[in-house]
Amino acid sequence: MLRLSKRLECIARQVPDGSRMADIGSDHALLPSWLAERGSITFAVAGEVNEGPRDAALRQVKTAGLQKLIDVRLGDGLEVIEPGEVDVITIAGMGGTLIASILEAGAAKLEGVRRLVLQPNVGEDNVRRWLVQHGWVLIQEQILEEDGKIYEILTAVPESATDITNLKLYEPFQLGENVKLSENRLLLMGPYLVREGSPVLVKKWEAEIKKLQMIERQLGQSDNPASRKKERELQEEMHAIREVLACLPKVKPSFS
Ligand code: SAM
Repeated sequence: MLRLSKRLECIARQVPDGSRMADIGSDHALLPSWLAERGSITFAVAGEVNEGPRDAALRQVKTAGLQKLIDVRLGDGLEVIEPGEVDVITIAGMGGTLIASILEAGAAKLEGVRRLVLQPNVGEDNVRRWLVQHGWVLIQEQILEEDGKIYEILTAVPESATDITNLKLYEPFQLGENVKLSENRLLLMGPYLVREGSPVLVKKWEAEIKKLQMIERQLGQSDNPASRKKERELQEEMHAIREVLACLPKVKPSFS
């Protein structure tokens, strides 16, 4: 039996039993292969835009004897699927901007899709923004650390399929006495993640502050007036993150 990384297994566990799925940017097709081996999916498309990873996917599927269940296809984003062909789409291990652009370009293929499981490596807010703008609602967010890297996994369904609304999910709310968590902050940090306030989330944003401090130091060496403006923006951003981190343990998840 195949073994998956903790990250891929968390993604796989978001795919409901009996799904017909497409894994876009499947690389070695490990995710659909793991699900198919367990009998959890009835059919999968493993999509790849590059021939190298496509060939690796073909080899994996053949070695595992899963050719009847997994169709490996070469193509850009959602162009590898027909409308109505799958009910779950997973896209993992790419930047958030690329994931959002794949969804945007393939919007017509999302008709009938019941669930998106998305794992951006960076730029998670771009994915959340795309979901809000296109009538998808997050039903779960996960954050995990593996091999020194932190990953977020976002699970979304069409707004017609849930009582949760984006209005409620991203509604600004008061944190502690003085901090108001804005819609933008929720898009950046994750509406569920911020309410849960896990140690991994704190670690992620503490690391982000360190990155911003490094950029601030570099900007400090420049005489360009634009650098002063950028420095102030960075300081404001770091202040906002620190304020949220200071209040996190007091917040409890609640959308009811
Ligand atoms: N999804 C796997 C995972 O999470 O472990 C593989 C991630 S790998 C870092 C990203 C893969 O996405 C690469 O194999 C790349 O070829 C593929 N990819 C990038 N852009 C794509 C696109 N527009 N359509 C399909 N695949 C794409």
